[in-house]
Amino acid sequence: MPTNASKHIISFSDLAWDSVKVHENKQPGEDVATFPKAHEVGKYLQTYADKYIPSDSIRRGREVMSVSRRDGPGPEWMVTNRASTKSSNVVVDEFDHVIVASGFFATPEFPPILGSEHFDGLVIHSSQLRDVDNLLSQMRSGTKIVVIGGSMSGGEAAATLAFHVSSLRHQSATSVGAERLSVHHITPRPFWSVPPYVPLDPIADGASNPSPTFVPLDVVMADLSRRPGDQIRFAPSTTFAPEAAKMFHGALQSLIGSDQSALGDGALVVHKSVSGKPPWLIISTTHAEFVRSGDIKVLLGRATGIRGSTMMFQRGDGEAVELADVGIVVMATGFTPHPALSFLSPAIRETLGYDLGNHYDPIKLFNLGTMHPAIPSLGFVGFYRGPYFGVLEQQARFLGALWTKSLGEVPKEPPASVGDIEQRGQFPMGDYVGLMESFTAILGVERMPLSSKHSSREGPAIPARYPGKTVGTNSSAASEQAKACEAVVATLAQRSLFVAPAVFRALQGKWKVTREIRSAVPTYPSGILTGEANMYPRRPSDHGYAAEFLYTETGELVTAQGLRMAGSRSYVYRLSEFEPQAITVWFVKPESGSKEVDYLFHEMEVNHESRGKDHGGWGSGWRAKGSHHLCVEDHYDTEYWFRFHAIEIQEWGIGYTVKGPSKDYWTRATYVR
Ligand SMILES: Cc1cc2nc3c(=O)[nH]c(=O)nc-3n(C[C@H](O)[C@H](O)[C@H](O)COP(=O)(O)OP(=O)(O)OC[C@H]3O[C@@H](n4cnc5c(N)ncnc54)[C@H](O)[C@@H]3O)c2cc1C
Repeated sequence: MPTNASKHIISFSDLAWDSVKVHENKQPGEDVATFPKAHEVGKYLQTYADKYIPSDSIRRGREVMSVSRRDGPGPEWMVTNRASTKSSNVVVDEFDHVIVASGFFATPEFPPILGSEHFDGLVIHSSQLRDVDNLLSQMRSGTKIVVIGGSMSGGEAAATLAFHVSSLRHQSATSVGAERLSVHHITPRPFWSVPPYVPLDPIADGASNPSPTFVPLDVVMADLSRRPGDQIRFAPSTTFAPEAAKMFHGALQSLIGSDQSALGDGALVVHKSVSGKPPWLIISTTHAEFVRSGDIKVLLGRATGIRGSTMMFQRGDGEAVELADVGIVVMATGFTPHPALSFLSPAIRETLGYDLGNHYDPIKLFNLGTMHPAIPSLGFVGFYRGPYFGVLEQQARFLGALWTKSLGEVPKEPPASVGDIEQRGQFPMGDYVGLMESFTAILGVERMPLSSKHSSREGPAIPARYPGKTVGTNSSAASEQAKACEAVVATLAQRSLFVAPAVFRALQGKWKVTREIRSAVPTYPSGILTGEANMYPRRPSDHGYAAEFLYTETGELVTAQGLRMAGSRSYVYRLSEFEPQAITVWFVKPESGSKEVDYLFHEMEVNHESRGKDHGGWGSGWRAKGSHHLCVEDHYDTEYWFRFHAIEIQEWGIGYTVKGPSKDYWTRATYVR
């Protein structure tokens, strides 16, 4: 599973990803994807620990059983702990300060579903969704897979399951029974299905930009120049005013390009009636297109129970609906923070305003989620619903400064109030930029510009731009910061770097194709083909590719002489794993019905110069050229164009020019949804 924010944001200020040796056979900095996978983040964290944390300052393999305070002289805190593997060996350690960093997402939340004990199928939590093939092989009954939950994990789980079903259907070895499987996604509200790469400039000259620059979503969202006013300060998302919600919806709509009605499944349409409510979003490469193709069916409502193999849910309008033949239920119902607080004594929890029924903000923390003034020697890091390394780092710096008394007057910013549940944001502390800026102001540190050519209000608020106070004396940390900033500058300078993954994502699914063929030799027909093409996602059939589609096309050719001929063809489209990612097109084996890759047809090279230009009847948009292909004595030259509307391709085309001893023709195919 890749991260849902880019490596530029998922980093600490003093370790650049380019310094991390992620792959055994590569040098540090080589081949780290923009969205690293979980194991790559593990390598990053290990490198960080090796570089900065003395090994004798960490005791691993111990479980904290209780944390309590005591009066009188000596250290204030007693931390009772034991070896995680043995229940004996209990020791009590004493400390002056305690930081709770036991993880807000500590334990899966598994709300009971009425009747699930009599369910014939399998119920798992989204955090257990690892080996999907194994899960599907255990499906004892039913044909429907239901995902419950309308937030990040729900989107990711539904997309992962739909991908595996698609892969089973379209991989080269046919899988029995895959045709019958279907994925259903129950969500209480519509959400924006946002891909990892979004257009930086979806509008150009007042109109939809057909060839936008694509950048990672977080790089756009964390851009300091998007924030109005001189000072940027944290704005909690615990209560969204309708006007603020409308603005946020508007920003997301401009990235997506529509209210999602184009996806065809009405359930995801963000109607005006919900635009005053806080927007929810998921981040997924494939979810939106699986909704469009019908491979994910979205159901708006709440699951209420299960009987035998029938799932019951209630729609927003109160109507009860049943879904029969359910075989697997995936509970993407989030995580509960409560077990991660259980070691605090009841007296401490009471002081913190602990509320067992509240998973959203179970304790009331002051100063941007770090502490409570009634217990100043107890700190919290990462104890909020929301990610990002930079904020964790700032929280730790704040506590360090507080406890070493270098802050001067102790700030007392109260916790954000939580209002009406309907106006509650998805992430109460989701204002990453505001948090980075507010901490910086409190700590008296200056934000660095990305480079000498940038003003300090330009570009994304990556952690490296917020150095700690001691960094001036630490040349290693300073050079890491410079390296991380350079990586962002280099990324932003290459305007077409992410066009290939953005094109690839947007190609998924069904297209109407019209192909004009003009032949200069009578032995090869001229005419017009009309038909249907599909880009079916499947697991890459070779290492080194991040994604793969089986392309199939069926249609009817009407020749210039009026003859009608049915035709079909298949290719495989692949997106390479490492940057700069390239799209390659492969022949499939010639045997009838084969889906197996045979050999390379061509590689697409995005034409950097073509942006925004009209290409002589080809329309404006990104243009790409295929590498020259020689087939025995026939020469194939290929050209592509892709006309975008925000994240979607509205129209694309392929042109071939073929010349050989008995061939002299060109074709131009146009694809629309
Ligand atoms: C599905 C999912 C996807 C995510 N994707 C992203 C992403 O793409 N990008 C991102 O930035 N963030 C992401 N996050 C959030 C991210 O995982 C957290 O923000 C991050 O892990 C917080 O780090 P932490 O150290 O505070 O807590 P954790 O990583 O949860 O670590 C807490 C640690 O404390 C230990 N612990 C708990 N109780 C005790 C005890 N009593 N005694 C001893 N040890 C204890 C736990 O075992 C654990 O090792 C994701 C979270 C989830 C659930």
